[in-house]
Amino acid sequence: MGGAMGRHRRREGETAAHKPLLQIQDVSIFYGKAQAVEDVSLTVHEGEFVSIVGINGAGKTSLFNAISGLVPYRGQITWDGRLRGRETGAQIARDGIVQCPESRELFGAMSVAENLYLAAQHLSPGEATSRHDWLYELFPILKARGRQEARTLSGGEQQMLAIARSLMMKPRLLILDEPTLGLAPVILSQLSEAMTLLKENADITVLLGEQNVTFALPHADRIYLIEHGRITWEGTPARFAAEAGTGYL
Ligand code: ATP
Repeated sequence: MGGAMGRHRRREGETAAHKPLLQIQDVSIFYGKAQAVEDVSLTVHEGEFVSIVGINGAGKTSLFNAISGLVPYRGQITWDGRLRGRETGAQIARDGIVQCPESRELFGAMSVAENLYLAAQHLSPGEATSRHDWLYELFPILKARGRQEARTLSGGEQQMLAIARSLMMKPRLLILDEPTLGLAPVILSQLSEAMTLLKENADITVLLGEQNVTFALPHADRIYLIEHGRITWEGTPARFAAEAGTGYL
C-alpha cells in the first residue's frame, strides 16, 4: 500500500492456504438474557476476503463488536496466534483490527482530508502523506471533495470516507460492517470497483458483513451465512448460489 495502483489478480483459493489470522471459536454474545450470537466459529486467513452474509438482526454487528473488543462474549477469539485476554478496544485497534462501523461515525464539521489525517496519528508525516495520496487513488471522488466538510458529502461519499479513514490506520484486518446500507446502485458499483482495487493492491485481510449478497459475493474468497445468531453455511461464492442462495439472491 502506498505505491501506484495496478492490477495483480490473486489466484482463486490462494489465501485459504495462508496462516489463520483471526480464529473465533464457539463465541456467544448476550444482551441481558437475550442471546444475539450462538456458538459461532469461523476463521479468517492472512490476506483473505471473507464475507459474512445475513439479514438485519442476524448478529453480524454483535460479532464484529466482540472481535473489536466493544462487547463482552463467551468463547475464544485468537488473533495472530494469541488467545485474546482482556485487551481494550483501543489496544485491539492498535494491534491491527480496525472496524468501519455501519453508522460511519465521521466528524461532520471537519473536512475530508482532516477526517483522514485524524486516523494517521501513529504514522510518520511522510507515511501519512503517501497513504493519504494512495487513498485518493483508491477513492478518486474523495480527492475532488478533499476540502469539503464531511457532513456535506452524499451518503456514498461518506461511506467511502469512512472506509478510507479505516484504511489510513494501516489495519491488518479491516472489518466492514454493511458498507452498502442505503446506497444507490451507481455508488455501489464505485464501491465495488474500490473493493476490487483494494483486493488487488493491498496487503490486507478483510471481513465484510453484508445483507447485500450481490455486493458480498464477487469480492469474497469465502462466505459464511449467519441466521438468527448461528453460522448455518460456509463455502465458496461459487457454491453459494446453488447451496444457500435461495432467498438471498
Ligand atoms: P443489523 O444489520 O440490523 O445491524 P446485524 O446482523 O448486524 O443486523 P445485530 O445488530 O448484531 O445484527 O443484532 C443481533 C440481535 O441482537 C438483534 O436481535 C438485535 O436486536 C440484538 N441487539 C443488538 N444490539 C443490542 C443491544 N445493544 N441490546 C440489546 N439487543 C441488541
